Amino acid sequence: MRVYLETTGCRLNQSEIETLARQFQQTGHQVVMSADDADLCVVNTCAVTTDAERVSRQIIRKLNRANPAAEIVATGCYAHLSPQVVGVLPGVAQVVDNFDKDRLIPLVLKSEVTDVFDHEPLDRDKVAGASGRTRAFIKVQDGCDNHCTFCVTTIARGVGRSRPAADVLREIQALAGAGYQEAVLTGVHLGSYGHDQGEPDGLLRLARLILDHTDIPRLRLSSLEPWDLSPDFFRLWENPRLCRHLHLPLQSGCDTTLKRMARRTSQAAFSALVQAARAQIPDLAISTDLIVGFPGETDIDFETSYDFVRHMAFMKLHVFRYSRREGTGASRMKGQIPESVKKDRSARLLTLSDQGAQAFFAQFAGREMDVLWEQIAGAAPDGFYNSGLTDNYIRVDMTAPAVLTNTITRVRLSAVTGRGLSAEWAAAAR
Ligand code: SF4
Repeated sequence: MRVYLETTGCRLNQSEIETLARQFQQTGHQVVMSADDADLCVVNTCAVTTDAERVSRQIIRKLNRANPAAEIVATGCYAHLSPQVVGVLPGVAQVVDNFDKDRLIPLVLKSEVTDVFDHEPLDRDKVAGASGRTRAFIKVQDGCDNHCTFCVTTIARGVGRSRPAADVLREIQALAGAGYQEAVLTGVHLGSYGHDQGEPDGLLRLARLILDHTDIPRLRLSSLEPWDLSPDFFRLWENPRLCRHLHLPLQSGCDTTLKRMARRTSQAAFSALVQAARAQIPDLAISTDLIVGFPGETDIDFETSYDFVRHMAFMKLHVFRYSRREGTGASRMKGQIPESVKKDRSARLLTLSDQGAQAFFAQFAGREMDVLWEQIAGAAPDGFYNSGLTDNYIRVDMTAPAVLTNTITRVRLSAVTGRGLSAEWAAAAR
């Protein structure tokens, strides 16, 4: 059977769809690059906002238009939370909820799935939304035991579960052997890795094991809730293979809003954590998530949050307008905020984000950094437009006579661009 896979939403969804692609290949099916060529399409949906749900529906409709004969299997958070809505979308033959996702192939095709690493690693380029053959997203954890009042993800994913470390090591070593340069650990609540096994420092131990027992050139950690980290955690970065980028979701910089969100952090705790991280990790990039227009967020609350966020000097802000999600505590709160106010607040934070990025990038102009080249954006008379990332998540663009994709080279960064820095090929040291 020819299978086309597509995903939307978070990195966890991305790593799940990559695992599914490997499982389909392993069970003798062919993963194809276009829905037109498929007998079956699998869509990993997202429900984090109403907009994410809309995009999920759009993807399903687009696939059905492209190939009305193909059956569509919908899974992921939106399919899990709204199976009646998703199940009647055009072309949808089956909805597989999040708790059955690991058994999707047996459920849909009645084929057995054995260990996914008995076979050649997946050609990730064939999965829509995957990162190409440079960075691999590895799901090590699912679910969450917290109850942030805005969060529907925790309802959709259940309680926290960690994957055995030996499995993770095996996957990462297989990817390193297949030529991948970077592994990104993902999870709904990555920082709680090991907690379900009674291991409070599980993530610290897992990261050490990966660094000690695999050959992956770079290891990156995706989103980490601030309350999961102790200052000791940052000693991990004594190993230069660990990428110097932390994504620490703050959600609001106002203590009263944080309380209503049931977030287990505060201005003081977050600020102390950032200070400890920066003291331990030179050139660290810190990004964050922020929700604007949370129920009851007054103008003063927002200004308090804005000032704190500015003070933290983040490299990037991911700004979300609060969206009411059925079944969450916040959906029942009084003081829902008008969309126009959310839009204004969002626009101000996005401007702050741009300013923060430009200030961060400017510190690196003239410096030498290693870049993992991910893709080429086209060809020009004088060469190819190579694009890649430093370990501290700066996008670097460089015209070079060669395609550098999937290599790490040291370059001298030159000018700040809209999205990062440029580099000169002549200055490439190796
Ligand atoms: S920590 Fe909060 S926001 Fe993150 S998944 Fe858990 S409940 Fe949701």
